[in-house]
Formats: sequence, structure tokens, C-alpha cells
Amino acid sequence: MAQKVHSAEILCIGTELLMGDIVNTNAAYIAKEMAVLGINLYYQSVVGDNPKRLKESLELAFSRVDTVITTGGLGPTYDDLTKETIAEYFGQTLQLHQPSYDRLCEYFARTGRIMTDNNKKQAYMPEHCTVLENPNGTAPGCCIEQDGKTLIMLPGPPREMKPMFDHWAIPILLKDSDATLVSKNLYFFGIGESALESRLKDLMVNSLNPTVAPYAKTGEVMLRVTAKVQKPEEAEALMEPVLKRINEEAGQYLYGIDVDNLQTAAVRILKRKGLHAAAAESCTGGLVAKRITEVSGASEVFECGITAYSNRIKQQVLHVNELTLQRYGAVSKEIAAEMAEGVRRLSGADIGVSVTGNAGPGASEGKPVGLVYVGISSKNYTNVIPLEIRRTDDDAREYIRYIASSNALYQVIEAAKRA
Ligand code: ATP
Repeated sequence: MAQKVHSAEILCIGTELLMGDIVNTNAAYIAKEMAVLGINLYYQSVVGDNPKRLKESLELAFSRVDTVITTGGLGPTYDDLTKETIAEYFGQTLQLHQPSYDRLCEYFARTGRIMTDNNKKQAYMPEHCTVLENPNGTAPGCCIEQDGKTLIMLPGPPREMKPMFDHWAIPILLKDSDATLVSKNLYFFGIGESALESRLKDLMVNSLNPTVAPYAKTGEVMLRVTAKVQKPEEAEALMEPVLKRINEEAGQYLYGIDVDNLQTAAVRILKRKGLHAAAAESCTGGLVAKRITEVSGASEVFECGITAYSNRIKQQVLHVNELTLQRYGAVSKEIAAEMAEGVRRLSGADIGVSVTGNAGPGASEGKPVGLVYVGISSKNYTNVIPLEIRRTDDDAREYIRYIASSNALYQVIEAAKRA
């Protein structure tokens, strides 16, 4: 069967975009993905939040390509008119899409916010479309296939748009093709998104097959390397030189491939090496233990998590030295070391990890907010990593605790590698 090759246009909608207030990263992202998909991308255009000009842009686009991907204008406000205008272009009306409405209600109930009629508007979809669920926001996308034309409508915020493009748009665009995409997700810790990007910029910009795209997570970065191939077994050879280059540039920060998160990587390496770990936590209040025990199979590698919040428990259970406490205070590298050693001895684990610090909001023992010590103890060595986690907004306490727990998990991975 002859394979249909789409000819496509990216049409980004938003006055902010048109005026240059924001940079069109959506178009850059989609364009790169289209290249991997082997789709002929012929045009990119931008139009403001204006129904008349949007309709003209659609007419123009479909006069020259068969596939249009739009981003933006799906929000709840009066100027978000993308859906109405596109439905009108296709001669369709908008109808309440009950599953989207239910999801919206559930979202507002969960976040304790009041839902307005404007919000309800987001659940109205063109009558003949496939609704594309948005797991990261309130505006669903949709796909209309009519008269040989394909239109895929996605929301504006990149953190909503990108996963929806990957999850929904790619299968639609590859429907008539015999190609498949194979991805590897590379997880990095200890390097920020922009630092990683600057090391790998040429690869991200110039490598078309495979493509390399970054995704920031809290305190971490994930790089997705995607190859387009006829048979999945061809992907390995295509990816090899790119993976080698990434390893050369940032290999020291790479903690795992296709591992999902730090806790999964930690459990996997402990299992592979036949090791056991235990945690002693103060300011993270059990978060390290919680994250490890989220991973199925953690019981094979995790002995215990002790939340030793008070100094008395630090002494009585973990056998932290009273003099050390008096001399250096609970938030100190000396106490972090004793806590890690203490929990390792107590549990009989191979690796003990500890966290002690000040998550705020106020200074304590004269130690600044965000000062955290992560201790790691194994048969061969004890080490303490001091952290200064800077953040001052309302979520600072949770953020500091989360980043501290991520560092503790990372140290467990490093200790397991060295054991
Ligand atoms: P929302 O539900 O958040 O209103 P929306 O689909 O209506 O989403 P817009 O209102 O058009 O999207 O844009 C929301 C935000 O998304 C913008 O302020 C901007 O930060 C970002 N954004 C929109 N379009 C783009 C783009 N093409 N490239 C990068 N960022 C974009």
C-alpha cells in the first residue's frame, strides 16, 4: 500500500507570541519532531487571538498543506477562540464533551477551586473530533479529520503541549506510515537543564534522526533520544553515536536510562548488586523511605527508614553522640555522618543514608534555611554532602525537602555503584 506522506503547517496562536513577548518554542519543538516523523513541514505561521485572521490563516494553510497543527488559545478566557473558530471553519458546532467535563469538575474539586462558566467552556469540543486528553492542564486538545484534511489542536503551555504531541499527535501522524519511533529516556541529576543544553546544544539542534529533546523535572533533567526506523532493531545502531556523545559530555550526571526516577534507579542498582540500604531522616521526615518504598520490589533491598526528628531519638535510636550534638548542632556534617553510620549498623544494611537540615521557614540553631547535609555510609567509606538549596517562595519547605531526598537517593545510587 502506498504510504501517505503528510504535508504540514504549524500554526501557533496567541497575541503574546505575535508581539514577541514570548518565544515560539512550541513551533521549534514540533518542527523537530516532524523531521523525525518524516513529515514534510512546509510552513510555520503565527496569528494573534483574532477569529477573523485565524480563519484566514486556516484557509491559507489548508490551501497548501493537508495537515495543520495548532497550539494555543484553548484556555478559558474570552480571547481564547481557537476551538470556536476551527469548528466554524469545518462547519461544526461545539458540544459538551462529558468525559472532559467530568475531568474538569474532578480537577476543580481536587484543587478546591470554584469552577466558572468560562472554565466549563473548555469541555465544549467540536462535534466530530477525537478529544486528546491533557494530563497536565485543564484544556483538552482535539483532532479533526475531514475532507482529506487533518487538524490537530494543542494547548499553548509547552509543558502541556509537548507530552500531548508525543502521546497523541505522533500516532495520528504515523497512522498511515510503516515507520515506528523508538525512544530512550536518559535521566540526569546534578546538572540543570540550561547547563546540559549548552553542553549538547549542537546535538539538540542538528541531530534529526535520532532527535534529542530535553524535559526538565524538579531538580532533574530528562533527555529523550528518539529514532525513526522501519524496524525497531535498527534503532540501536542509529542511536549509538549520539548516546556516546552524550556520555562524553555529561556522562557523570547520567544516573539511568529508562528508569523513570531516582528511586527506581536506586532500587534497581541495589537489586543488581545484591545490596541493602537503610535511611535515617530528620528534615525530610521519611520522604527518602517513602520514595524508595514506592518502587515495587523495594522490600528486597530496603531495610528500614527511621525518622529521627528529635535529638533524643537521634541519640537513643541512632546512637548519635551527645557531645557531637552539643558541639556542632543537629544540622551539621558530623551529625549527618553519625546518623548514616548509626542506621547502617542498626539495620545491618550495606548502605546507610541520612538527611539532616533546615527546611525553613525560619533559621534554626543559627543555620540558614536550605542548608542540608546528606550523609552516606558504606563498609568502605562515610561521606557527607553539604547542600545549599535556595528557594524563598511559599513552596520552599516542600521543595527543599524534595531536593534533599533526591540528593539522598542519588548518593545511594553512587554508593551502590562503588560497592
Ligand atoms: P491556557 O489554558 O493556559 O490559557 P492556552 O491553550 O489558551 O492555555 P495560550 O493562552 O495561548 O494557551 O498560552 C498560554 C501560555 O503558554 C502563554 O502565556 C505562554 O507562556 C505559553 N505559550 C503559548 N504558546 C506558546 C508557544 N507557541 N511557544 C511557547 N510558549 C507558548
